[in-house]
Amino acid sequence: MPRELETIGFIGLGHMGKPMARNLLKAGYPLVAHNRSRAPVDELAREGAQPAYSPREVAERSTVVITMLPDGPDVSQVVEGRDGIIEAARRGLALVDMSTILPRTSLEIATHLREHGIAMLDAPVSGGPQGAEAGTLAIMVGGPRETFDQCRPILGAMGKAVVYMGDNGQGVMAKLCNQVACVLNLLGVSETLALARRANLDPGRLLEALRAGAASSWMLVNQGPKMIARDFAPGFLIRLQQKDLRLVMSAAEELGLPLPGTALVQQLFRALEASGEGELGTQALIKAIERLGAMPEAPD
Ligand code: NAD
Repeated sequence: MPRELETIGFIGLGHMGKPMARNLLKAGYPLVAHNRSRAPVDELAREGAQPAYSPREVAERSTVVITMLPDGPDVSQVVEGRDGIIEAARRGLALVDMSTILPRTSLEIATHLREHGIAMLDAPVSGGPQGAEAGTLAIMVGGPRETFDQCRPILGAMGKAVVYMGDNGQGVMAKLCNQVACVLNLLGVSETLALARRANLDPGRLLEALRAGAASSWMLVNQGPKMIARDFAPGFLIRLQQKDLRLVMSAAEELGLPLPGTALVQQLFRALEASGEGELGTQALIKAIERLGAMPEAPD
């Protein structure tokens, strides 16, 4: 059994949160669940979770509260808004925010909570709904070391790599670094396959060769075949990637660091959004490159 039998509160049962909460149930943790719409709460209640009707109620009935919400304003609302977590403040309560939000916002919320005796971790994830279901997420954590040690077994039930990054805000900063690496790898694969197509290379054979050498990457291996098959179903939506890139560019601006490659990918995704393609998977980036080269749309 999990060491402390902490009762976990889970707020935000969307594409990521619901499978993550389910893995906690499977690991034996008592779970109190809340979401703005009721359907996922009812679904988890049928699997053993206790339903709750506000963030405050969740916090009153648990020792560790996890949030998995769309963006910073949602986390602020759930923590500091009416019937928010902070209204149930008591020493010993911990909040683990696993949403991808601005490091500055995360730090501000953590500072506010600390004044009320609540310790906070930022613990955003990489791996998508698939990783959430399989319990194989990469989890990057910022916050007090002792709270990390307390929550590590809980995080371990949702992820295969749980890495402590440092103080509050450093977990989400690591997630933003992850997004920079992802989109630049994706751009590399997109340009590679556009060039191959223009040059009439067999793209399947090209991938077979490249994946064995220095050009290989997760993006090449996983997204390359989808680009070749013209399979643009998400995966990870361009719209969501753009949300993360806005966070990246905002954090980089605060730090005074130019990120020219990332800015380029953001603009290329914007071109796809302008064409009504924001709901495609990010592998559709190749379409933007092909259009720059006046290449005809390959049959989908
Ligand atoms: P989602 O929109 O599917 O889920 C968010 C959930 O939060 C929804 O069920 C919504 O009803 C609920 N919610 C919103 N506001 C609420 C409130 N005030 N009170 C209670 N519930 C509320 O989003 P998601 O795809 O699960 O992503 C969650 C977070 O994880 C985001 O920050 C996202 O950037 C990050 N993330 C997503 C992915 C992915 O592939 N989807 C991958 C890694 C990280």
